Amino acid sequence: MSGFWLTEEQESIREGVARVCSAFDDEYWRRTDETGEFPEAFVKAMADGGWLGAAMPESVGGAGLGLTEASIVMQTVAESGAGFSGASAIHLNIFGPMPIVKFGTEAQKSQSLPRLISGEDKMCFAVTEPNSGLDTSSLETKAERTNEGYRISGRKIWTTSAQRANKILIIARTTPKAEAKKPTDGLSLFFTDFDRSRIDAKPIPKMGRKAVECNTLFIDDLHVPHDALIGEEGQGFKYLLQGLNPERVLFAVESVGLGRAALRKAAQYAKERVVFGRPIGQNQGVQHPLAKSWAELEAANLLAFKAAALYDAGRECGAEANAAKYLGAEAGFSACEASVLAHGGMGYAKEYDVERYFREAMIARIAPVSREMILNFIAERVLGLPKSY
Ligand SMILES: Cc1cc2nc3c(=O)[nH]c(=O)nc-3n(C[C@H](O)[C@H](O)[C@H](O)COP(=O)(O)OP(=O)(O)OC[C@H]3O[C@@H](n4cnc5c(N)ncnc54)[C@H](O)[C@@H]3O)c2cc1C
Repeated sequence: MSGFWLTEEQESIREGVARVCSAFDDEYWRRTDETGEFPEAFVKAMADGGWLGAAMPESVGGAGLGLTEASIVMQTVAESGAGFSGASAIHLNIFGPMPIVKFGTEAQKSQSLPRLISGEDKMCFAVTEPNSGLDTSSLETKAERTNEGYRISGRKIWTTSAQRANKILIIARTTPKAEAKKPTDGLSLFFTDFDRSRIDAKPIPKMGRKAVECNTLFIDDLHVPHDALIGEEGQGFKYLLQGLNPERVLFAVESVGLGRAALRKAAQYAKERVVFGRPIGQNQGVQHPLAKSWAELEAANLLAFKAAALYDAGRECGAEANAAKYLGAEAGFSACEASVLAHGGMGYAKEYDVERYFREAMIARIAPVSREMILNFIAERVLGLPKSY
């Protein structure tokens, strides 16, 4: 979106992704949500279409497109009705490897990126820990130097897709917090094999998105070679930050996509369902929450695409990306709630899908960063208020 609408090329990206998604109907997503079966066929179709490498450099087999185009891809997936079951199945492929793109050596890039883009390798991203939560500087997983490289031990939580991953991007402490100049110094980022003899991944039973699991990881003496270190030792937090703004934008547009899917279902149902001798959608009490949700979704979307445009132009986008993630997640959630309510009792039935959307809409309100931390960021960095935490 160079201005307020898609360019011809971007429109063709949207159409291309929508075509892939059209082969995976509501029934497919309902089944994966019920059984927990990973949407393998969908991911393969997206990989075959070349969409997993949309934002990766052309030199390693990607399409070399920007965050704007990646956002169009991911929004189209969510909006198709795949919701977060579909978006989260490929989300990491789209922007997860960015620290390798930006800070990896040529050898690291050429060895890892083409295999991630083709879908041959599957990665997970392990940051969150049970004892540190949003305070990343307090994470306890340690990486100790050895002659061959490092040995990593510790615990991670919520790691998405760890059951299927054969690669892990992991952040660990290489210098104790007390000895580091700043609390966020001394953290290092590694991209390495997911060695199941050293990492035990236990799925977490959770509210929604059963098809894409989250795990607690118990890491016991994981040996990683020197060349698994991304960039410089101790600078991992800085590298992580680089990927945060794009990820917030992707969450924002995915939420908007999910909200749009919910509104589409609600409008359809409200036209067809007749009560008191007329379609329920003829009542303003049914129309207005849906119309209000539409307005909220479109406003959030504008800010998300503004953030993407700033990022693609190499400009500062922290405030916009954070605000867009906040607004997108809230608008997506409200739209899903309005859709459930417009369906009445059927909103609670699996057969109409909106109860799944409603559960999935909670994800973006919590991850990858909570609403409170976003508001903390805006209060401090935009409004100049004292840091509160
Ligand atoms: C479906 C899902 C998938 C995920 N996938 C991954 C993944 O692949 N990899 C990964 O590393 N992580 C992943 N996460 C983890 C996610 O990023 C974290 O859950 C999130 O960052 C919040 O951290 P926490 O759960 O530890 O919350 P906590 O840090 O325990 O915070 C709990 C609550 O307290 C609030 N709070 C804490 N401190 C303050 C403060 N100072 N001011 C105001 N409010 C505060 C928070 O906003 C939050 O609402 C995933 C989570 C979910 C739900």
